Order: sequence, then C-alpha cells, then structure tokens
Amino acid sequence: MSFDLVLFGGTGDLAWRKLMPALFQAFRHGSLPAGGRIIGVARDDLTDQAYRELIQARFEEVEGAKRPNAAEFEKFASLLHFVRLDLSKPEDYARLKERLDSRSADTVVMYLATSPALFTTACEQIGKSGLATPRTRIVLEKPLGHDLASNRQINETVRSVFEEQQIFRIDHYLGKPAVQNLFALRFGNALFEPIWKREYIANIQITIAEDLGVEKRGAFYENTGALRDMVQNHALQLLCAVGMEPPIDSSADAIRDEKLKVLRSLKPWTQESLERHTVRGQYIAGTAYGERVQGYREEPGVDPDSRTETFVALRTEIQNWRWSGVPFYIRTGKRLASRDARIEVNFRPTPHPIFPAPEGASNQLAISLQPKDGLELHLLAQGQDGRGKGARADGTALSPVQLDLDFDKRFGAERVGAYERLLLDVIAGRLNLFVRSDEQEAAWRWVEPILDFWQTGKPRSYAAGTWGPSASSAMIARDGYNWSEENG
Ligand code: NAP
Repeated sequence: MSFDLVLFGGTGDLAWRKLMPALFQAFRHGSLPAGGRIIGVARDDLTDQAYRELIQARFEEVEGAKRPNAAEFEKFASLLHFVRLDLSKPEDYARLKERLDSRSADTVVMYLATSPALFTTACEQIGKSGLATPRTRIVLEKPLGHDLASNRQINETVRSVFEEQQIFRIDHYLGKPAVQNLFALRFGNALFEPIWKREYIANIQITIAEDLGVEKRGAFYENTGALRDMVQNHALQLLCAVGMEPPIDSSADAIRDEKLKVLRSLKPWTQESLERHTVRGQYIAGTAYGERVQGYREEPGVDPDSRTETFVALRTEIQNWRWSGVPFYIRTGKRLASRDARIEVNFRPTPHPIFPAPEGASNQLAISLQPKDGLELHLLAQGQDGRGKGARADGTALSPVQLDLDFDKRFGAERVGAYERLLLDVIAGRLNLFVRSDEQEAAWRWVEPILDFWQTGKPRSYAAGTWGPSASSAMIARDGYNWSEENG
C-alpha cells in the first residue's frame, strides 16, 4: 500500500522532535509500508535535498536510541521531500497538488503540525484546491480550540471538507503502551473486570506531573493553562479508559461510544463543588533537582501579573451504576516534584482483617505511563520472619509487596512509541485511538464551568519542585484519602 504523508509545519518543533523520530522508528522496525513519501510543507524555500539535510541535523538533538546512523539516514532520507507553501495563500496549494498528482498514492495523510490558528484556513483551502479526496485523511493536533464554541467551529469546518471517518484527532496519551495495556488488562483478561466497580474500588487517582517549567513555550502557555493543555484532553481520556464499560467489540466507534458515555456521566459542577473540588496553582521560584529555578511569572513570554494556572487538582464522580460515589481525582502541573504520569486504582480494605497490617494498607493497581511504562499490583504479604512495622511474634503481620510488570524490560526493542503507533494507525486507517468530535465537545462542555469560575480570583502559589498547593492535599484529605506520595 503506497502512501503520501504531508507534514504541514514540516520544519517545526513537533515535526522534528516527535514525528520524524517516530516515522524513522517505524521505518527501522520495518512497519512503515513500502512505497511511501513524507512531504514536509512550510514557507521556507527548501529543495528536497536541503530539507533532508535539515532533518538530519535536527536528528542530532534527538535521544540516541531514536537517532539513525549515517547509513540508516541515507535510506530513510529517500522518503523525504519538501514543498514550499504558505497555508494562508490559496494560490500556493496548487504546488502541493501538482506534487501529489505526480503519482497516485493509495492513501494521502495530511498532518496539520502547525499553529491551530491556521487549521480552519488550511482545511478550507485543502477542500477548495481539490486536495481532499476519498483517499485523504487529515490529522489534527491539540489544541483543538480554546473553548467549546471554538472547538465546534473547527470541527464544523473540518467536517465540511472531510467525513468523520477521515478525521484523526490525536491525543498521544492514547497511543502510550501503558494505555493500550490498560485496555488489554480490562477487556482481555477475566481477572479484574468483576472487581472493577464501586463495591471494591475506594478511589481512583490520575496524576500527570511534569518536573519542567514552561521552557520556551511561555507565550503559548500563558493563553492556555493546565486545564486546557492537560485536563480537557489527556487526563479526561485517561479517566475514560479507566471508567468506561466494556465495548461491544474493538471497533473505533464501539470504543468511542463508551468513552462518550463516561464524559456525559461526569458529575455536573455546582457553585459548591467548584469551590470545594477544584484547585488551581501557579509555581513560584523553588528548587528542582538541587538547582534554583525561577517562578512562572519570571519565565520568558509570561505576563509578570499572570493568573494562568500551571497546576490543577480536581475531584469528580462518574454518575452511573458502576461508579456511583467513587471519587476520581485528577491532578496535573508543571514544575512538580518529579516527572510522573500514572493512574492509581485504590481498592477498598478487606472487610474483616484478621492479620495486623500497616495503617490504611490496601491493594492498589498502578498503571505507570511516565517515565516508564508498566503495571504494578500492590499486595499485602507475610514476610518470612514477620519482622518490620506492626510485626507480631507469631510472624502473621502483613507488609506491602508488589508485582511489577515493566513493559520497557519485557518488550524492550519491540515496543512501539506513542507517535509511532498513532502514525501507523493513521496510514492504515485505524481510528480506535483517535478522538471523535462528540467526545471532544463533551469534554469541553464539562471543563467550561471551571474556566468560567476561574475568570475571577487567582491561582494559589506553590514552590517549584513540590507537589503543588497544600489545598490539593486538603481537597483529597476531606474524603479521608491521600495522594500516593503522601503515604510514605
Ligand atoms: P513551531 O515549531 O512554531 O512550527 C510551526 C511550523 O509551521 C513550522 O514548520 C513553520 O514553518 C510552519 N508554518 C508556520 N506558519 C506557516 C504558514 N503560514 N504556512 C505554512 N507553514 C507555516 O510549532 P510546533 O511546536 O511544531 O507546534 C505545531 C502544532 O503542534 C501546534 O498546534 C502545537 O500546539 C502542536 N503541538 C506541539 C507540540 C510540541 O511538542 N511542539 C506538542 C503537542 C502539540 P515556517 O515558519 O518556515 O513556515
């Protein structure tokens, strides 16, 4: 199957940092279909050869394991081409059409890896210039809009040119191996599904913590904030993966229908819950890995009086028979104590404990997405000699142990990264791991009351290198729980 993959924004940060390394990995693994072309598009006036040299130079900044050696790059480079095109100039699209018409690939993928401000114009012009055919698929990166109204507007424009089946809205968290394995664990094994409900699960915690600050993206982040950047998309998609009902089959719409039901079942916000169950924070100067780092307001491109949140913690519930009353906590932020993305499913304690055990000890399933991919099952077991905290002379005391499945170690080199997986899925036309417009709209609809509530007031400060404002711990403590790092 031949394909043409057109990378609008082919010289940008996303293209060289994520997409090219992912495409190269697919090429190296032999999973990229033969006979493909990767066509970079931007306003620079580059020849194919100059584009290849630019990408080769950029690979020097990519982590070693994902970097080609000279012989590998030479082979990969034969796939790379370049077309100069200003997305805001209708007359420029003919140049791309000419290049695509020079052969008739089975599939043409148009990846909009460029500013969202150009999405609408680009889609309209792709339509008008005859570039949208039944063979074409379009890939849209986040952020898709700033709120519900702008999201709808983008979706309407895209749908006026493409059928929903041709639209691939990327949420790269869905491509992460740990998320695939969450689906596999839940719907490919009989073990967990019977206990995956309110009777056995006390609470679920979703954490997406970054240790870095906003780096060079201050100006972008200033208009976005953590709620739009991480919660509306990634965190809610993770919540759907944990909370959804088993789909009727593994088809894209069967999966997306179930995720949509979760989003529609999220507890609506009230004035009281907005006050009690939302926390926003902004980092001030602090220490990260032993080094003094500046606060958010001192970062380049950031307003010195900024009220943009760099941290969010929320508590919600899924209002259905399975989950009624079970709190789902979400938190995400920049400049936190470590880089750590995980979902923790905390089970209820045994109903009638007969062995002494550490205070509050119970089972936990932790799905780790970052920095490593894996699953940990936390159990309680008897040590060989019964020593340790809470030990008794008869050796019956329990202590925590864990079964640790490290996907990096288990699957090693065969492991497929998130962007690699998603790019291969687009080329093959598999929509399972992409977000449908109604899911996106439901997520925006749920997030908007928080955005409105935060129109006034300001975020709480937290020192860089910590776990966010103390109000985040207080919010969860009111239910009698802790964030996992507070359990010692
Ligand atoms: P970037 O580094 O600023 O790159 C923008 C690209 O678009 C460049 O190749 C630029 O090349 C091209 N471009 C700009 N205006 C153009 C025009 N009028 N016509 C044709 N090409 C044009 O941006 P980025 O960081 O790669 O981000 C791209 C998109 O991905 C954004 O929507 C961003 O939010 C999203 N995203 C980025 C990341 C990331 O890690 N960077 C992660 C997730 C999502 P010329 O200026 O030469 O034309």
